[in-house]
Amino acid sequence: MGPGHPERPDRLRAIEAALGSEKFKRLEHLIAPFPPREALCRAHPESYLDALEQASPREGLAALDADTAMNPKTLEAAQYAAGGGVAAVDAVMSGGADTAFVAVRPPGHHAGVATPMGFCFLNNIAIAARHAQATRGAERVAIVDFDVHHGNGTQEIFWADKSVLFCSTHQAPFYPGTGGRNETGEFNTVVNAPLFSGASGDAFQEAFADRILPRVNDFAPDLILISAGFDGHRRDPLGGLLLDERDFSEVTKRLLDIADRRCHGRVVSFLEGGYDLEALAASAAAHVEALMGA
Ligand SMILES: [Zn+2]
Repeated sequence: MGPGHPERPDRLRAIEAALGSEKFKRLEHLIAPFPPREALCRAHPESYLDALEQASPREGLAALDADTAMNPKTLEAAQYAAGGGVAAVDAVMSGGADTAFVAVRPPGHHAGVATPMGFCFLNNIAIAARHAQATRGAERVAIVDFDVHHGNGTQEIFWADKSVLFCSTHQAPFYPGTGGRNETGEFNTVVNAPLFSGASGDAFQEAFADRILPRVNDFAPDLILISAGFDGHRRDPLGGLLLDERDFSEVTKRLLDIADRRCHGRVVSFLEGGYDLEALAASAAAHVEALMGA
């Protein structure tokens, strides 16, 4: 993204270091494969993929908006990131893994049907959801997004798709400006639970308990996907919420409980935001520990 940008390679280095500790020894680490174009086209039109290729610079940076830029390798990285989600869905749906955490960048939840924005180019979680439906027999997929920013791209992609439930907690009013309670989708399968700046872990847990978890449970999904942004952490330089790693761990456990009841425990989680390296590493570790059933 260019020098000084918060969405930087050190984010993944910090997570890798945290997941290298003794208690994560039984994790299997897989390298994200390059995805077939067909998989990307389930969430984005061909014309958009062509436009991204055309926008991709030979050298230097090409700015797509005020805070989203591409270098010559960005598109390839975005494709591998999407491929990581596809592979994780394959592993979990085939029984090869119980759960999976997709530690990739660039993130995806702001990427709309045909709009790159907010550090995102391809909507990794939407591509994975559609892949699960098209190739793995998942009829109903629930997506839960706890990034501090609203997952406007994911919401846009599934706005009129009743086979996918999209639920989000996020800070509001805040970037990108969407995610009001009144945004419920064409078929009432969009659930927004906005939180005010300064909201505590208790308010976050309450939003999950009252508004998100009952809807996920009632939806009876065949697979649960998580947009795990850790920028709601109190130390995060972009967000204004007061969460800590225990909050992420707690909601992850509750989602796993529902997955155990509804879909054989199948959960795939995707890294979205999180820009304080220490908080990001601790939060991702707590989240993965919960995903391991610990
Ligand atoms: Zn975010």
